Amino acid sequence: MNGRTPRRVVVVGAGVVGLSCAWFLQKHGAEVTVLERSAVAAGASWGNAGYLVPAMVAPLAEPALLREGTRSLLTPGSPVSVSGRPSAATVAFLAGFARNATASRWRRGMAALAPLAADGLGAFDELAKGGVAAEVHERTVRIGFTAGQDTAGLEHELTAARTAGQDVSYRISAGHEAPFSDQITQILHLHGQRFLAPGAFLDALAASVRERGGEIVEGAHVRSIGFGPGGLQVDTWSGPPHKTDAVVLATGAWLPELARLLGVRVPVQAGRGYSCSVRLAEPLEGPVYLPGARVTLTPYGDRVRITGTMEIADRDAPFDGRRIDSILRSLRSLLDTEWDDVREPWAGSRPLTPDGLPVIGATKLPGVHVAGGHGMWGVTLGPVTGKLLADQIVSRTAALELGPFDPLRPRSLR
Ligand SMILES: Cc1cc2nc3c(=O)[nH]c(=O)nc-3n(C[C@H](O)[C@H](O)[C@H](O)COP(=O)(O)OP(=O)(O)OC[C@H]3O[C@@H](n4cnc5c(N)ncnc54)[C@H](O)[C@@H]3O)c2cc1C
Repeated sequence: MNGRTPRRVVVVGAGVVGLSCAWFLQKHGAEVTVLERSAVAAGASWGNAGYLVPAMVAPLAEPALLREGTRSLLTPGSPVSVSGRPSAATVAFLAGFARNATASRWRRGMAALAPLAADGLGAFDELAKGGVAAEVHERTVRIGFTAGQDTAGLEHELTAARTAGQDVSYRISAGHEAPFSDQITQILHLHGQRFLAPGAFLDALAASVRERGGEIVEGAHVRSIGFGPGGLQVDTWSGPPHKTDAVVLATGAWLPELARLLGVRVPVQAGRGYSCSVRLAEPLEGPVYLPGARVTLTPYGDRVRITGTMEIADRDAPFDGRRIDSILRSLRSLLDTEWDDVREPWAGSRPLTPDGLPVIGATKLPGVHVAGGHGMWGVTLGPVTGKLLADQIVSRTAALELGPFDPLRPRSLR
């Protein structure tokens, strides 16, 4: 930026985070070009569950998951697993993850995420008011627990969200309610949350960026970001260089490829998840989550999208259809309804960090910023990330809420 407010900004990556950054930068008058190596929503932002649930935003690394994880990591087909022979980067991620799975680290992470989560839905309202024409539905999320499971862990998270200022309201009922089977003995009804169809939402966001004069170049694979003869420059593998005043790197699980060269040492590891859509015998009013199987169901037009698995794997690992079969199998005993017409099999890579905190802010290279690493909650937190980072870039004043997400944070803090 060299002391000036940037006029031209290049955003790399057209997922929910990159497009949100682009949209909010335009609000400040910036001319935006989005460079996407494939197509809008080609990464994790398409086939996900589409939950907008700020009340459930929490670091993934917590003591219970680590205990459960070490057991299930070794079990093929379990909801959380390490796939194939782990690379050195994966081993480093898992070591960092274990380091962060303590009660005090979890509390610290929760305190950092809470202000971001609290503003999450407000940023969606701002997009809607500004012309992003996509349906966002407000509903109660129902979370079904089996006899052996305890609601205490989730209630602890919800209390922490409430303490941090979120309006969190829930009740717990006994099971015996469609679509759950008899195995579900308790249901936590989390009120006032939202959901959307992520693909349709991303299309609407991209359309709005274009309507406001932004350019989205699909098929533009960025190879480097640096200073050329005319200043800051972004190079792709195919087209001409893009001269710019500022850059936002928002490449999801692929962040390390370019971010390491910008001094960002926070490991970003792919947590692969799978989804498909089905026709369910009974209509589904709102989202359903089954923590035992780590599977979600979300209304999706007149169908239902089902998502699940957390596979610590290569971000470009080949699609493995057995994962979808295993998700559907895990539902057989938990739901008392039939489904058919399985379509749209999909896999995507959640961008996970060891401390469960995203990386949002400036890098070592002047004028170059990163936004990503939101793990399981990039849709919920994408728009608020774009809003705060755009404010920070344009005002050139550090946003307090973004402090804990410093991309250059030292190892002792992550
Ligand atoms: C199964 C599953 C369920 C989920 N459910 C939810 C949910 O219910 N709610 C929620 O909030 N979150 C959910 N998530 C998480 C959420 O999907 C992600 O956190 C979010 O989509 C990440 O967005 P992003 O923009 O950072 O990355 P991405 O969407 O992955 O976008 C990154 C983009 O960068 C592009 N790119 C990469 N490298 C380059 C390059 N060199 N040059 C140009 N372009 C490049 C990629 O092609 C891609 O389009 C879920 C994820 C999964 C997998």
